[in-house]
Amino acid sequence: MARHARNERPEQPFTGFKLAHAVLSADGTRAAFTGLTLGAGRVYGVSAEASCVWNPRHAAPRRWCGCGFYCLHELSDARSLGCATENRSALLLEVTAAGRYIRYERGLRYSRQRVRVIRDSWCGCGRPGTALADAGSGLIGWRYLAPVCAPCAAGRQALRIADFAARLDGPVRLEPAPAAPGTAATGTAAGDAADTRTDAIAVLTAEIALLHARLDDLQSRLDR
Ligand SMILES: [Zn+2]
Ligand SMILES: [Zn+2]
Repeated sequence: MARHARNERPEQPFTGFKLAHAVLSADGTRAAFTGLTLGAGRVYGVSAEASCVWNPRHAAPRRWCGCGFYCLHELSDARSLGCATENRSALLLEVTAAGRYIRYERGLRYSRQRVRVIRDSWCGCGRPGTALADAGSGLIGWRYLAPVCAPCAAGRQALRIADFAARLDGPVRLEPAPAAPGTAATGTAAGDAADTRTDAIAVLTAEIALLHARLDDLQSRLDR
């Protein structure tokens, strides 16, 4: 394998947090993950080595290219990213990052990944997910799955998250999220609660924009 002297190599693996979509093979026997945007067409298992989707001749991650796996250092940053509309059906994973890597202020882009824990997943109704149901979309050979809670899964075909994990190609721990603040109760102060949530969402959207801006800025500084 080609080695790039400019890229750093960690002495010890990093722990990071990321979002990924759950997928199930056409015959239902194998489970895996896919990336959100850049890696959306790539299916990966518990242990995976990154390769560049644009240029198979260079090793990922490479500066001037967006290839490689991504993770964030802080669980809270990954949770913020998970609030964005397009990421609502993603699973929050805890991973170990190793191999070649490029460091950012809030995360890493790297070559080797091991998924350790499946953490948060959220049903569209706001409750934590307990199972995964067909999301109605997919790739050739793989169906996308979306988290559902027990009440919403009633009457639908759904795979318990533990059964999904058992179909992965390696052992992964499950640490489900606690219920999100402000979503558990349906009290009389519904109007107030809705206002608070709107504010929280506005703040999170701003934070996510900032996070992306920082990553881009740091990338451009690293590349100079
Ligand atoms: Zn590349
Ligand atoms: Zn639900």
